[in-house]
Amino acid sequence: MTSTAGPTESIVIVGAGHAGATLAGLLRQQNYPGQIVLIGDELHPPYHRPPLSKKFTDDSMVQWLKPDQFYADNDIELLLGVRVISVDPDAKRVNLDNGEQTDYTTVVIATGATPRMIPVPGADASGVLTLRTIPDARLLGEAFDRTTALAVIGGGYVGMEVAAVARSRGIDVTVIEREERILARVASAELSRRLTNYHTSRGTRVVTSFDVAGFTTAEGAITAVLAGDGSAIACDHALIGIGAVPNVELAQQCGVECDGGILVDRVGHTNVPGIMAIGDVTRRPHDALDGLHRLESIPSAVEQAKHAAAAIVRTHGGAHETPWFWSDQFNLKLKIAGLLEEGISTISRSGATSDSFALFHLRPDRTVCAVETANSPKDFMAGKKLITDRLSVDPALLADDSVSLRDVMAAAKTGPVTAV
Ligand SMILES: Cc1cc2nc3c(=O)[nH]c(=O)nc-3n(C[C@H](O)[C@H](O)[C@H](O)COP(=O)(O)OP(=O)(O)OC[C@H]3O[C@@H](n4cnc5c(N)ncnc54)[C@H](O)[C@@H]3O)c2cc1C
Repeated sequence: MTSTAGPTESIVIVGAGHAGATLAGLLRQQNYPGQIVLIGDELHPPYHRPPLSKKFTDDSMVQWLKPDQFYADNDIELLLGVRVISVDPDAKRVNLDNGEQTDYTTVVIATGATPRMIPVPGADASGVLTLRTIPDARLLGEAFDRTTALAVIGGGYVGMEVAAVARSRGIDVTVIEREERILARVASAELSRRLTNYHTSRGTRVVTSFDVAGFTTAEGAITAVLAGDGSAIACDHALIGIGAVPNVELAQQCGVECDGGILVDRVGHTNVPGIMAIGDVTRRPHDALDGLHRLESIPSAVEQAKHAAAAIVRTHGGAHETPWFWSDQFNLKLKIAGLLEEGISTISRSGATSDSFALFHLRPDRTVCAVETANSPKDFMAGKKLITDRLSVDPALLADDSVSLRDVMAAAKTGPVTAV
């Protein structure tokens, strides 16, 4: 593909995370001829965050996004340990915390998100940790070597992954969740139930409907997590994993509209000419979904980078991909596609082993809106295709493990078929 952008143009990408670094690479792949400046406030070159909650030895945990030479070879100016402190949309210039300035034709804000904190007494005690960066993961890894009782606050995907690793190391783990079930915001009740059983059968304690009101400390170190009703869970370390807040400050400062994230169109344009945004920091429309969505996942970051690159080189990035996500917990490889909706029914299929299953979530018109799978890559692929193609499936066939998914899909394409 040849870019129609001119050689005097300049793209400044703020945030050298997954979205920003992917965009820089894609622009060069699409022969963007202008200058590309990728600015990140972390000291490390762009890296994969998913291993941070799944592996806790340095060699497996630290995985760079691109080889060392990639940035120089592709004429991408990578500035690390530098923070963009403001954007001037009139002068088309970004200001850095080292006193320097860089002019842009387009600036792309890819500033990601920051772990949400619990504003309660004791939250600043030593032993209270969060997880987003390599230094965070190293601290947590060191804590694993010392802790005997870990409290994981928040039963989301990151929390459950950390709980699984800690428990596998023989640590006494309690997952503390404010809602009535783990993964309440992001998974079906059936998947929550199965995962809760999976974790508890391996010795993890899962405490739900527990609203954290504070931490007790001794000599500045955490000793317990407290609920409003006075109940306490003893621990010597706590990981707070209650989600992440989009880093919108820069966008707000330069007049970009934000509402639960930077508001962008389907390719990443904001309301301010010359300013785009991609990745976890955005809330965006999706071709196949109603409303706006803040999709915090690698596939979404990569997809947004792809669409922004296409817009910058003035081509079309194609249709949006069905949202998907993965998570590893103990020996479960979870893969989830689509989004859950109100008024759906759930059909489960068993896999080849006792640890594999697929949950299909159907709308009243029998189209599939989401699929949640464990150790079932084929079911995941089939489910994702059913979602994308908006095929109406026969629930009886889908519920029958003796009917292959291939036949379920063939029947969905040709119309109703009765099980034999
Ligand atoms: C522990 C963990 C596990 C995860 N596991 C999975 C998984 O299994 N599957 C999955 O799909 N997703 C997973 N995710 C989510 C995934 O990593 C994110 O969706 C993805 O990293 C988003 O990329 P991003 O570039 O938008 O943001 P980030 O990767 O957060 O990058 C943003 C970067 O911008 C920098 N920055 C912020 N402000 C400035 C500024 N003013 N100037 C300069 N730099 C700035 C930040 O420091 C950061 O380096 C996980 C996330 C975490 C934290």
